[in-house]
Amino acid sequence: MSSNGSLGWGLVGASDIARTRMVAAINGQPDSRVVAVMSSQLERAQHLAAESWADPADPIPRAYARLDELLADPAVDVVYISTTNERHYEQTLAAAQAGKQVLCEKPLALSVADARGMVSACRAAGVVLGTNHHLRNAATHRTMRRLVAEGAIGQPLAARVFHAVYLPPRLQGWRVARPEAGGGVALDITVHDADTLRFVLNDEAVEATALGARQGLASEGLEDAVMGVLRFRSGTLAQLHDAFTVRFAGTGFQVHGTEGSLMAQEVMTQDPGGRVVLRRENGTHEVDVGEREDLYVRSVRAFNAAARGQGDPAATGEDGVRSLAIALAVQESMRTGCCQTVADGTD
Ligand code: NDP
Repeated sequence: MSSNGSLGWGLVGASDIARTRMVAAINGQPDSRVVAVMSSQLERAQHLAAESWADPADPIPRAYARLDELLADPAVDVVYISTTNERHYEQTLAAAQAGKQVLCEKPLALSVADARGMVSACRAAGVVLGTNHHLRNAATHRTMRRLVAEGAIGQPLAARVFHAVYLPPRLQGWRVARPEAGGGVALDITVHDADTLRFVLNDEAVEATALGARQGLASEGLEDAVMGVLRFRSGTLAQLHDAFTVRFAGTGFQVHGTEGSLMAQEVMTQDPGGRVVLRRENGTHEVDVGEREDLYVRSVRAFNAAARGQGDPAATGEDGVRSLAIALAVQESMRTGCCQTVADGTD
């Protein structure tokens, strides 16, 4: 930690999400700064470091080509891992061993066992592990969680997630071409649905069944579209449609209960927009979701607090294990044609 008490963040991965969202979210906090970036290609790290994303007069001070160099930097307190998915596991273990706090991108890993290993390693090292599931930071989803918990719709019976989008051309790389990097729609999009459903319903998925397809973008061995159904412990059923290939559907999230329905539009996005409607016997009205904040800013703020020993990250490592377990069950169901039990996410 610097002498003024600011947390130094090191970026592991010169990624699109670091560049477009996270640098500004970290530097926008009064108590944290990005102090270093690492890429397997030094020029990529240097390029990101030199870009004036937050403040033209204040570029990221150091660029590294090796993880051990970044982890040896005493100014780095927190590591943000946003490399391709197959690298998250080893990089998290190394960061924990170096005593750094870790905010890791979703999916945490490519297997539940590895994700559990990440949680255990961070726990053993006494460092915080967070999963960067941004959607649970949205005022819309937080409001729906509260309303469900308060009984506004009675007993939840069913949920529907509409998360079929068009993958921007700049991101049509490893996600649609490299199974070994953890590409495919389930590990990219379904994993977010899984976390948001768990969060809003405050329930755990136990079973998954799904059909997947290749509809124009994905290479052999990967799916770019999926429709699936989850069964939750309470008996609630959830239906999801996720895709990289649908340009005009818009997104949505609905929960239908014995006493009412919550229907949210344009809420499965990176921005804090969208609206929520509550329909009950006495009519339909728009829900006031309160103050809307950038989802990544809220994620970083909660992580900074957790790193200082105050509370938990918005999504913990355990949350990341559980969302991964659901996404993997959906993926396995697509590939085998069989209903899958969701692996228990606990140690
Ligand atoms: P990118 O494809 O932009 O970056 C991933 C890695 O690919 C980088 O770490 C980099 O490796 C390498 N890379 C980047 N640009 C190039 C290039 N031009 N040529 C060759 N290699 C390159 O990934 P995303 O930012 O889309 O995703 C990164 C992670 O973040 C994933 O785990 C993803 O699931 C997650 N994500 C999460 C989101 C959220 O909202 N929570 C949203 C988007 C992504 P190196 O670092 O070695 O240079």
